[in-house]
Amino acid sequence: MAKTADRYFKADPWKIIEEGFDPSYARVSESVFSLANESIGVRGYFDESGTVDSLRGSYINGVYDIEQLPRSYRGIIDHTHFMIPAADWLKTGINLDGEELDPGKAGFRDFRRELDMRSGTLTRSFIWETASGKELRLTFLRFLDMIHRERAYQRITLEALNFSGEIGFSTALSFDVMHEGYRRCFWHTARRDAEGDRMMLQSGTTLSGQEVFAGAVINLPGEYAFEEEEKTVRANALIPLKKGEPCIAEKRVVLLYDGSKGDELWQRGTDALAESRKVQIPDALRAQQAYWENYWHISDIRIEASGADTAEAVEAEQQGIRFCSFQLAQTYNGGSMHHNIGAKGMTGEAYNGHAFWDTEACCLPFYLFTNPQAAKDLLLFRYSTLPMALERAKMLDCKGACYPIATLNGDEACSLWQHASLQLQPGTAVAYGIRHYVRLTGDEDFLWAYGAEMLLQIARFQASRAARGSMTGKYGFFGVMGPDEFHMMVNNNAYTNYMGKRTLSYAAEVLERMRQEKPEKWAALAEKTDLGEDETAQWREIAENMYIPQGADGLIEQHDGFFNLPHTEINDVPVSEFPLYDHWSYDRIYRTDMIKQPDVLMMIYLYNSSFSMEEKRINYEYYEPKTIHESSLSPAIHSILAAELGKMEEAVRFFGYATRLDLDNYNRNTREGLHVTSIAMAWANIVYGFAGLRSDGDMLRFAPRMPERWKLLEFSVVYRDRVIRIRMERDRTTFRITGGEPLTLYIYDREYRLGAQELTVPCAD
Ligand code: BGC
Repeated sequence: MAKTADRYFKADPWKIIEEGFDPSYARVSESVFSLANESIGVRGYFDESGTVDSLRGSYINGVYDIEQLPRSYRGIIDHTHFMIPAADWLKTGINLDGEELDPGKAGFRDFRRELDMRSGTLTRSFIWETASGKELRLTFLRFLDMIHRERAYQRITLEALNFSGEIGFSTALSFDVMHEGYRRCFWHTARRDAEGDRMMLQSGTTLSGQEVFAGAVINLPGEYAFEEEEKTVRANALIPLKKGEPCIAEKRVVLLYDGSKGDELWQRGTDALAESRKVQIPDALRAQQAYWENYWHISDIRIEASGADTAEAVEAEQQGIRFCSFQLAQTYNGGSMHHNIGAKGMTGEAYNGHAFWDTEACCLPFYLFTNPQAAKDLLLFRYSTLPMALERAKMLDCKGACYPIATLNGDEACSLWQHASLQLQPGTAVAYGIRHYVRLTGDEDFLWAYGAEMLLQIARFQASRAARGSMTGKYGFFGVMGPDEFHMMVNNNAYTNYMGKRTLSYAAEVLERMRQEKPEKWAALAEKTDLGEDETAQWREIAENMYIPQGADGLIEQHDGFFNLPHTEINDVPVSEFPLYDHWSYDRIYRTDMIKQPDVLMMIYLYNSSFSMEEKRINYEYYEPKTIHESSLSPAIHSILAAELGKMEEAVRFFGYATRLDLDNYNRNTREGLHVTSIAMAWANIVYGFAGLRSDGDMLRFAPRMPERWKLLEFSVVYRDRVIRIRMERDRTTFRITGGEPLTLYIYDREYRLGAQELTVPCAD
């Protein structure tokens, strides 16, 4: 693995700290200091605008606009949608002696920015040294309410250090915001108002027909007057400062998007603003701390170093783990089944806010084991978007449902047709997610009400897309792209075939069981979907005759012809050429055996208990050296398999990369936003990797293997109304449950019964 870490932020177990400001790193920091509460998200951009390189991104989940694309061939989408920046609610201007504060030009010292993961707050402070010789200490605080998700807060503290006098101060709400890629503002403002201490705006998008209300209650320590522009409302104040006496300017904000429009939205927005003014910022802050305390109680992962020589590295890992968990929970926590998890969450415009197959393949386990209701809501998102998946399959001349590779609202939005039309993994990932959810929660009501219908339509799509090879006589998928996006339009991609096989047989099993156990529900579903008498039998036939390109030694060929591809030595690719998509011509990456991300190894990870240790070993050893990890989803999968194979050094190395992917800017593109879905894999990396959890079989299995440099690893998982607390030490692992009935589980392949008494198992060698 040729990539290297940029260690820029200070290590701390609970905080991300930037001391001193490096303008060339401004965008990376902005991404890292992003805040979200599932409904709204904001990059860590400076409140005061200026010349610092910045993406002033403030977003609302589910708010997007649409672009019509030139009509092309059948099956290629003719419009797309993308997340757009919403109201900039932090916009601030500060003027002293005629000099406008612009951190890109101003003199300042003692710069410090801090994200506190125990309170979800971002603070930034520095001393501004004006050209006129004055010194003003500025401290900015912001946070997004995790409970009242339409609310956000900003507090600015100003302290004159060597003078008394007035400063000019302005605070604004503005829809005059530019989408960086499209270089345009998508908002038209229908209504605005400013009176007393309130300012309000309501704006609509250009083509998606969505409307958003933005309002603020301001509290400024000085006289102010409002100024209105087409898409902006601003309060301009003169604030008298006395030397050494801090002064506070506050803004409590409401950003409301709930599907309502016009007068109704205006009324709801005004009411929400009236409600929010009842809460003072310190009270909101206390509620925020309580929220996060509760969150960490279940979801924290604690590690300790085994010695002084590893303390620093382990501290960085600890920080990295918490950062990943924090960012994931900020992005999605089950607030709404109409939200999903964008690959970059709401931390940037790259990937357009779209959710991918990542949600089910990578993020779902985190929710299944920490917040099962949120896992269910994610699957319900797929249920609510099933009609669009049915339409998409028709466009591709297939039957059933083809889930999109990239979407915000259920429609396919990926304008790269090769990905949108050739990647079949979103559907099989949804099917896998349903199976995983039902096995872990036992929620059969969900299966009969929603899961079965999705499975039926996904299987139907798979059956209509599969075909028999003329020479092998076996079924396979032709003209596809597997998870490894460096090989396009291939035949018999092992992952696609294998996942298709498992999806078809699971769907057949569920529907046949439904027919027996829930005949009325089955009859209603069969009628609704026009299920053919022999359809499930046909799925079984395809599944049983699916071609899996595996040799006698267990090695699986990624796709037809892969073994014959010319070789690229990945360690010879210079770091300066990452990301490859920016440095290599598009076609060049498709011609060799270099792999972007696990493909064969991905299916071995997902259906782990279906593969023998020898199959895991031979495939890992063959494919790992060919993988360049250009997808951030990649390192954690390798770490998990390496740990299982006892390759602990490798497991730890990949783990560091997965955990600090964005904190250390490994892929050199954190400036575009965080890799939110792949940081979900950092959680999996520990729980599936070092604790050896396997959840794809009938029982939970653990096989703890601790890295040398840790002496303690402690975390909890939620499982069927119980919390299982797992404490791994060097020589033993202790399991404890709170709540629920005793539980049978496997530890190092031996069956144990875990009841009220804690259970201690010695570690395997
Ligand atoms: C990966 C995909 C992934 C997407 C979003 C791409 O780079 O190759 O597998 O779905 O990023 O994370």
